[in-house]
Amino acid sequence: MTVKQKSTKVKKNKREEAGTLTKKDFHMHSCYSDGELSPAELMRECCKRKINYAALTDHDTVDGVGEAIAAAGEFDIQFFPGVELSCIYNGRGFHILGLGIDHRDPVLLDKLDYFKGVRAERAVKIIKKLEEYGWNVDNSVLGKKDGIITRMEIAEAVKDKAISADIFFDKWLGKNRPCFVKRERMTVKEAIRLIHIAGGKAIWAHSAKTLEKDLGLLPRIVKEFKALGLDGLEVFYSEYSETQTKIVHGLALEHGLLMSAGSDFHWVNGLRELGGYDLYGLKFNPEEIINSLSDRG
Ligand SMILES: [Zn+2]
Repeated sequence: MTVKQKSTKVKKNKREEAGTLTKKDFHMHSCYSDGELSPAELMRECCKRKINYAALTDHDTVDGVGEAIAAAGEFDIQFFPGVELSCIYNGRGFHILGLGIDHRDPVLLDKLDYFKGVRAERAVKIIKKLEEYGWNVDNSVLGKKDGIITRMEIAEAVKDKAISADIFFDKWLGKNRPCFVKRERMTVKEAIRLIHIAGGKAIWAHSAKTLEKDLGLLPRIVKEFKALGLDGLEVFYSEYSETQTKIVHGLALEHGLLMSAGSDFHWVNGLRELGGYDLYGLKFNPEEIINSLSDRG
């Protein structure tokens, strides 16, 4: 999820007053992928919000994990290294979270490096296409953080566009738009295997959002992913409705999958606030996932 969101201060205040903000968040992004805050700032923010269990899950990189571990120690937060892998299954894109991984695992790092290269090659092709349409891109700002160049970053670097990067992205760089370039992605099977090699748990992120328009497919795909080794589902998610949460909760129970909870926080003034998911009165036993991550040895 890479879309920049608008502020919803009213909603936020209501939630804070109601005391429904939760203290565990296993899905957040730093500036090492497409988030706004540095890992240290992110941990500071978690501390301010009294979140005592956190996982950093940047897109296809673990480069921010070291900084987050150091900061989490300072703020007394129990921290789990993580990653959010972009992958593909039957031609459709999915996000699988790797929680509690060893972020120094050489197989994991090799694979992430390879896909970093794939993104860089794609960026060159996108920029070439944009130039063919008369757009100029400020190359000097791209890949500044860790060499990963996202489409949103390219949209932000387009000069003289007179529209916001979000709108530019939708018009020019989104799927089937004039400057869209397909990117090689790992399969869901490879992603789950890679997470297991690195000692982590594979959790399907925001499944009911990814399949929002095809919700009927969800039960079958959960079954298929479980057969591939999936460990859990992100049952509680900042953008889930009550119905979506109940569906995913039911599937986790039915298949004996771990339940995870995450905000998918990216931006300080975004819709998704840290810890800002709703339980909708459902049973969530966070110790289950916490213990499974702590036990990885
Ligand atoms: Zn995410």
